Amino acid sequence: MVKRHVLQALEARLVRCRRCPRLVAWCQEVAREKRRSYAHESYWGKPVPGFGDPEAAMWMLGLAPGAHGANRTGRVFTGDRSGDFLYSALHRLGLASQAHSVGRDDGMRLKDVWISAAVRCAPPGNKPQPDEIEACADWLDRECAALTRARVWVALGGIAWDAALDLAQRRGIARFAARPKFAHGAQVELAGVHLLGSYHVSQQNTFTGRLTPQMFDALLARAHQLARSPTRAASESPTDAARSAPRSRSARPRGPGRSP
Ligand code: SF4
Repeated sequence: MVKRHVLQALEARLVRCRRCPRLVAWCQEVAREKRRSYAHESYWGKPVPGFGDPEAAMWMLGLAPGAHGANRTGRVFTGDRSGDFLYSALHRLGLASQAHSVGRDDGMRLKDVWISAAVRCAPPGNKPQPDEIEACADWLDRECAALTRARVWVALGGIAWDAALDLAQRRGIARFAARPKFAHGAQVELAGVHLLGSYHVSQQNTFTGRLTPQMFDALLARAHQLARSPTRAASESPTDAARSAPRSRSARPRGPGRSP
């Protein structure tokens, strides 16, 4: 209950964030102009907070809100085809109460999963700039500090992967000699956390068959199994590990663009 209040307080601050003028202006412009099919709706048009179970062992990290998806509905991965793909898979695995996420008041409940994004404001062309990714990293840090049970991080796409590695370095839980490369199915053992990579659930990947429901189901099942059966590497919580290691912001995000 305390953790829920911490995350709610974080959300209240996040939705007022105006650090990135380009993204703030874009979110508001999209919300004002709207897509014709949503002309009757009131768009969210501001930063989109994380969503899910505060006690989650699994944390899924996307790239950024979709202009007419999360930027419209106010819930991460909600109101577009990417979200349909993601929540259907979580529902099949028994982690989401329903297969479709359409709005903040649709009754959706997640069990053991928290979902958020590397960048909380919708970027033009789905391409945040490096300084915007870096500016938003602070919200990841705060969220990570609150999600004390998250032992498995699933990064959807290369930008989320890099954001997760940078987060791990800042928290002092990254222990690797060379920076691991993103790939679908890649797995890296951090101190207290398993990091898994998945192709992003964008239509660019799901419509072309690059990422199929079967592939995604298998990856989520692996993530869920890791979350339920912590290994020796995950025996130390991220918070504990962070306490025993210095924080560093030396790692900077890589270039823009939605990675597959
Ligand atoms: S992208 Fe992140 S840091 Fe930038 S304005 Fe939005 S919430 Fe704030």
